[in-house]
Amino acid sequence: MKKIIESSKKVWIKTFGCQMNYHDTERILSNLSELNYELSKNIEEADLILFNTCAIRDLANSKFYSSLGEVKVLKKRENKSVIVGVGGCVAQIEGNDLIKKYKHLDFAFGTDQIDNINKMVERVQNGDSKFIYDSYDPSQDYSIETKIINKSPQAFVNIIKGCNNFCTYCIVPFSRGREKSRRSSEILSDIKNLIATGVQEVTLLGQNVNAFGKENNERFSDLLLAVNDLIGLKRLRYTTSHPYFISDDLIKAHSTCDKLSDHLHLPVQSGSDSVLKRMGRRYTSSHYLEILEKIREANPRIVITSDIIVGFPNETENEFLETISLLEKARFDSIYSYKFSPRPGTVAEKIVDELLMSEKSKRLQTVQQIQEKIQVEIRSSFVGSKATLLVEGAGRMRGVKKWKGRSSCNRLIHFVPPSENDDFLGKWVDVEVLSATPFSCQGSLIGLTC
Ligand code: SF4
Repeated sequence: MKKIIESSKKVWIKTFGCQMNYHDTERILSNLSELNYELSKNIEEADLILFNTCAIRDLANSKFYSSLGEVKVLKKRENKSVIVGVGGCVAQIEGNDLIKKYKHLDFAFGTDQIDNINKMVERVQNGDSKFIYDSYDPSQDYSIETKIINKSPQAFVNIIKGCNNFCTYCIVPFSRGREKSRRSSEILSDIKNLIATGVQEVTLLGQNVNAFGKENNERFSDLLLAVNDLIGLKRLRYTTSHPYFISDDLIKAHSTCDKLSDHLHLPVQSGSDSVLKRMGRRYTSSHYLEILEKIREANPRIVITSDIIVGFPNETENEFLETISLLEKARFDSIYSYKFSPRPGTVAEKIVDELLMSEKSKRLQTVQQIQEKIQVEIRSSFVGSKATLLVEGAGRMRGVKKWKGRSSCNRLIHFVPPSENDDFLGKWVDVEVLSATPFSCQGSLIGLTC
């Protein structure tokens, strides 16, 4: 008898924000595949439209609202039966208002409800709508198995969620709740399973990843050592770290773990101690620079990247100049830099800010110009060196096919294959770096890594 294969349904999803959100999206898609949904890049053919939102930056927030508005037109004019849902940090905080305000929105779900996505979709398919799943149980242990949808040799693994720090500008403790760590034993067996499916590079994830394990009397550095020992794993990364939680044992792990990448993303936010205090960051600029010195001693190849916020409420000219001075001393390989934008419900939102927006924009421009100059200098020393990449994909640059992958120090490098038909996806290759600008690095293929 011929088997009847039910045709698949299409889901279109737009993700905003950080690595955690992209990882959550992968989990959403993995869950939905059990309902026979497959990813579509074409919103017009979608049976299900989802947004995974970010509340951290104003820009991501406004982009989400404008996309949600566009979907209203699509649903009204072209595809009345399409199901529309919103998840992530905005849904966690404002889900009820969203549901009331946007008639075309069927459901909203918070950051802890991703594994209930199929129930929500089925509820809408069965005629129910306008509901929200936004609870999270603070007493629950954090236990989760990593789900991946593609056969990529790279995987993200959540090890801690939430944050206890309450930096005065940040919405994360409200949208993701308090810190909860998984047990090391569970993480290790999870990664072993991933390795068995072909994963070779793992990134350990958390909003405050190096605060891992406190409630279970476990240490992040011990977890790194244990993951480093797993047979079959070739490279290990982690993000995002908080300077306050960088301990000496973690610094030591950067010299002893041979699979740990030569990269650390360590957000400093400001070089001014008075601003750092107002931000509630719990370290000073000199403590931060001391960490960099120790970590560079532990691993002389390490490359440091960071985040900077300019124009925190009432930031003085002198305070701003202290950030410039830190930039010059720290010599970051790259930074994400932003103008402060108030997040509803945070302490910083309530500060009466006398600093003009035009001045904030000017300061942001200055930071970016100085950083670009530093990047040019730093990256020029990369030229001529050899880098080992795990190849992530290919594209065309001015008509020429190029493959790309990240070096251990997290720089994206492009290279031209010997032949158009060569397939390097998921392979480890060695390249010689031919050029390295702040925006792109080009390499020449040496060969497959032995
Ligand atoms: S450490 Fe601060 S900035 Fe980072 S997630 Fe926690 S509260 Fe937000």
